[in-house]
Amino acid sequence: MAGKKFPLSKEKIEQLVEKYPTPFHIYDEKGIVENVRKLIDAFSWAPGFKEYFAVKATPNPFMMKLLKKEGVGADCSSMAELELAKRCGITGEDIMFTSNDTPAFEYKAARELGAIINLDDITHIEYLEQHIGLPQLVSVRYNPGPNRAGNEIIGNPCEAKYGFTREQLFEGYRMLKEKGVRRFGLHAMIASNELEEQYFIDTAKMLYELVVELSAQLSIEFEFVNIGGGIGIPYKPEQKPVDIAAISSGVKEAYERIIVSAGLDPVKLYMECGRVITGPYGYLVSRVLHRKNIYKNYIGLDSCMADLMRPGLYGAYHHITIPGKENEPADQVYDVTGSLCENNDKFAIDRELPSVDPGDLVVIHDTGAHGRAMGFNYNGKLRCGELLLRENGDVVEIRRAETVDDYLATLDFDALKSFD
Ligand SMILES: *Cc1c(COP(=O)(O)O)cnc(C)c1O
Repeated sequence: MAGKKFPLSKEKIEQLVEKYPTPFHIYDEKGIVENVRKLIDAFSWAPGFKEYFAVKATPNPFMMKLLKKEGVGADCSSMAELELAKRCGITGEDIMFTSNDTPAFEYKAARELGAIINLDDITHIEYLEQHIGLPQLVSVRYNPGPNRAGNEIIGNPCEAKYGFTREQLFEGYRMLKEKGVRRFGLHAMIASNELEEQYFIDTAKMLYELVVELSAQLSIEFEFVNIGGGIGIPYKPEQKPVDIAAISSGVKEAYERIIVSAGLDPVKLYMECGRVITGPYGYLVSRVLHRKNIYKNYIGLDSCMADLMRPGLYGAYHHITIPGKENEPADQVYDVTGSLCENNDKFAIDRELPSVDPGDLVVIHDTGAHGRAMGFNYNGKLRCGELLLRENGDVVEIRRAETVDDYLATLDFDALKSFD
C-alpha cells in the first residue's frame, strides 16, 4: 500500500498521549518550514514575491508566528483573524484583507492596521469611502465569470459570489483613481484544492493581461498581482503533490511575455495559500473507543467532526493509519466514526484497514489546514487542542482542548436563577 508517514513512532505517541490525552491535532514544524521555504525559493525570480498565509486554514498564532519568521504575511477575512495577526506582530502591508460581505467595523480595523484592503464588490468603493475613507493602496478582486477559458474543474465562476465582473473592474479602478487612490493591486481566487499546475499559470496570465489593459486604458500603475491560494494537496496516497516549480516557471514565462514586454516591470507577485503550506503537516491523533458490528462494521473514535469536518461536509478523503499496524494487511472494511448524533459524522466510509481494536491509536492525515479551524460545538462537542512538534523533537501545546466551561462561557447562569 502506498504510504503516508506520521513523523512519530508508536512508542513516541504513546509517551505523548500520557501528557496530552487524545484527541489532538499535531503539526510538524520541520515539514512546514521546509515546505514554505521551497515555495518562496521557487518564486525568487518574481519581483517582491510574498506569500500571505490564509489564516482561516490554521488560525493559530504559533503557526502564524512561525511562518512570519519565514517572511510570510497574513491573509485575513474577519475581525478575529485581524486581531490574531496584530497579536503576532503582523501589521501594515504584511496583512492582506480579503473579505466579502464586509461590515464597516472590519474595514475600519483593517485600515487601522494598515492592511492591504482587497475589495470584493464595486459598491464597496463608496461604502469604504463613506465609513472609513479610502486608503492610498486598494486591491480589487476579479471574478472572471464566463470569461475564464480552459480548466473549469473547480466549478463555474459565474456561480461564485466573489469579486467584480470584468466591466466592473474597469469602472471600479476608474472610480478609485478619480477618488484619489494612487496605488493599485489586482487579485483573483478562483480555485480550491486544485491539483493542476496549469490552472494557476492561466490565472496569472489572465491577471497580467488585465494589468496591461487596465494600465493602458486608465493610465494607472499596478503595484502587485495576487493570484490567490487554492493549490491542492494529495489527500490520497496515490495522488502527486503539485509541482510548485512548474507553476513558477509558467508564471515567469507569462510575466516576461506580458508584463515585461509591455514595459510594466516590476509588478510584484503575491499569493495567499493556506492548504498547501500546512495541510500535509498536520495529523489528528485519536483513540478507538468502540468497535461495533451491525449491518456494517464501525470503529468509533474519541474525536468527532467537531475536530475535522471535511469528510462529513464534503465527503473529503483523509488517509488513516494505525500506529504499530502500518505493515499489517488492510484486510478489514470499516466506517470510522465520531460520536456526534449525525450520521455524516464519519471520518471514512468503507475504508480498508488492518484489524482495529478498541484502545488502538488512529492517525488521520493531512489535517494541517481547514481541520481544527472548521470545528464547531454542535451537540455539545468540545473541540480538541493543538500541539506543535518542534524541529528539535520537543512538543509544545499551542492550543488547549476546550472544556465544558468554555462551552458554557456565553451563558449567564446568574440571570437564569431569577428566570421563572
Ligand atoms: C480560503 C482562501 C484562501 C486559501 O485557500 P487554500 O485553499 O487554503 O489555499 C486564500 N484566499 C482566500 C480569499 C480564501 O477565501
